[in-house]
Parts: sequence; structure tokens; C-alpha cells
Amino acid sequence: MWTLGIESTAHTLSFGLIDPDGKPFPSSTSTIRPEKGGIHPREAADHHKAAAADLLKAALSSQSLNANDIGAIAYSQGPGLGPCLRVGASIARGLAAKFDVPMIGVNHCVAHIEIGRQQCGCDDPVLLYVSGGNTQVIARLEGKYRVLGETLDIGIGNMLDKFARAQGIPFPGGPVIEKLAAKWQDENPDANMNGLELPYAVRGMDLAFSGVLTAALRLVENGKPLEAVCWSLQEHVFSACVEVAERALAHTGKTELLLGGGVACNNRLRTMCELMCEERQAKSYAPPRMYCIDNGTMIGLLGWLELQSGRVTEFDNSAIDQYLRTDQTPIIWA
Ligand code: AMP
Ligand code: MG
Repeated sequence: MWTLGIESTAHTLSFGLIDPDGKPFPSSTSTIRPEKGGIHPREAADHHKAAAADLLKAALSSQSLNANDIGAIAYSQGPGLGPCLRVGASIARGLAAKFDVPMIGVNHCVAHIEIGRQQCGCDDPVLLYVSGGNTQVIARLEGKYRVLGETLDIGIGNMLDKFARAQGIPFPGGPVIEKLAAKWQDENPDANMNGLELPYAVRGMDLAFSGVLTAALRLVENGKPLEAVCWSLQEHVFSACVEVAERALAHTGKTELLLGGGVACNNRLRTMCELMCEERQAKSYAPPRMYCIDNGTMIGLLGWLELQSGRVTEFDNSAIDQYLRTDQTPIIWA
């Protein structure tokens, strides 16, 4: 029997499939792209409701399956936006009841780690998890994924999206910032930080991005070229993340670094991680981009792993948890 994974923590509704042996297949995904403004939780939830039926059909037909082939339903139980999480959980409850199959609520952040481990074949990495709402440096210690450092304010992706939005670039802004920064680097091989300095986001093992955002907006207001500011912004905030990740490697003695989350699609960040790891004889891994962004497949995979270890979620315990922490989920499967 197959496992269906449902992702709905924020901007994206996504269904992914895991075959009976635990092999993942690409997800069917729909992401809300507001014409203006940021992601409104209620509007995102409405988007998910409207998209659900067709998306589920597309996911099943992508593997020539019908509903009777599904033996378990996994869904994101948290963390995330309440209205969005509730849509995923409701779909999971409905399908589990109708088809009389077990349901498993999983931790979204942990799912990013497990799909990365599975895809990259690494064993015990430090995870640099850089997404819209989350920015964390994570490592497995004593049976749980511990957060060794994290953002004290907004997620790095959120910061990039907000900066982009102020320049009239719609969500998601991260990929556009990447292109503009690369253009600046190409056209200015000797690019340097003169006049483009920004605050540095490291606070001990933690990070902070709202001050960098304000300062970057001010550079543009003061007439610096947008491409140059994008370049400087990336250099500053990615360096900060890589510095904390390196310190996590040093403290834990681990030798693998794994990227996860939507911002891990970024080529410059991937390169910085590789350079840092080369210098300390560690190895840097990044999953395929379709498994960096939020996707149902990673939810299905973690659900499959947990079910193999005998965990199921009863209806009475299926409520969502907006504030679920990475270190609240015991690792019973590894
Ligand atoms: P997630 O929340 O994990 O689904 O990731 C979404 C976030 O990833 C958004 O903030 C995007 O702007 C960001 N993102 C996606 N692709 C890139 C990229 N190539 N460079 C930087 N950020 C990106
Ligand atoms: Mg995510």
C-alpha cells in the first residue's frame, strides 16, 4: 500500500506519494501567489481548499493509482499557519475515515531533514534549514533533532520576500534576488562591499534578519543599484547562516552538512556551503530543488518512516500545533 503525504503549512498545498517500499515520488503542488502584499493565512487556506480536489486527483493519476491503493495518510501537523494547517489536517481526517486507513501527523521541519537524508544519502548531518518562515541550524543529539541556532526574528526567506516586495517583485522574491545578484557579480567580477555594507546577522549561535532588511531597503532608497544591493544582501545573510552552520559542525564533530528549505534552492548559498565544507574536510549536500521547497512527498516519507516504527495519530490527537518545535519529535525511526 502507498502513503499519501499532505503539506499545507503555509503558501503551498501539496500531495506526494511514497510507494510500499518507502520510495518517494514527485509531488503535485499548488502555491498561492498574491498579486500584492504578503501571504494572508486566511487567503492561503481558501486557496488550499479550492485547489485540493483537483490536486489530489492529479497526484493519484501521476502514479496511475486510485484511492484504494492508499494505505496511510500523512499530514503536516505543525509548525505553520493555523488556517492552512487546518485544511491539511481536515483532508487527512476525511480521507483516513472514508478509506479506513491509519493517519499520521508529522513535524514539517523534521520532514525537510528526512527527505534530504533520503535523497542525498547522508547519515547524520548538521542541517541548515532555510525557508520562508524558518531558519534553523539543527543536529541529531540524544534521540531528537536539536535546534542549535535559529533566527530571533523573521525567517530568511521571509526577509528576502519582503525586500523583493518593496521593489515591486512579487512572491516568491528569493529566486529573483538570486538572478539580480548573479547579474551584478557577472558584470562586476571585482564587486566589493564598499558602500554596500549591511549589519551582520549572527548573534552567538542565533541569527537575526529584520535589521539587515531595513538597512538593505535604505541602500536602495539612497540610490544604490538594486542588483548591487541584492548581491550584498545575499553575501551578508548567507555568510551568517554558513558561519553558524560551521560552528555547529565544529561543536558536534559531525562531518556532513545538509541544506533544506526553499532558500536552499539558491546556487550561491549552495556554493558557500560547499566551500566551507571543503575547508574543513566535511561534505555538503543539497537535495533536488523540488524537495527543498515545501512538498507533500517529504511529509509522506516521514509518515512512512514513523508508521514503520509503529506510530499512528488517533483522531483525538490529530489537532494541529502551530508552534510545534523541531525538538519535540522523538526520532523513533533511525
Ligand atoms: P519554503 O518556505 O521552504 O517553501 O520556501 C519558500 C521560500 O524560499 C520563499 O521565501 C522563497 O523566496 C525562497 N526561495 C525559493 N527559491 C529561492 C532561491 N533560488 N533563492 C533564494 N530564496 C529562494
Ligand atoms: Mg518548509
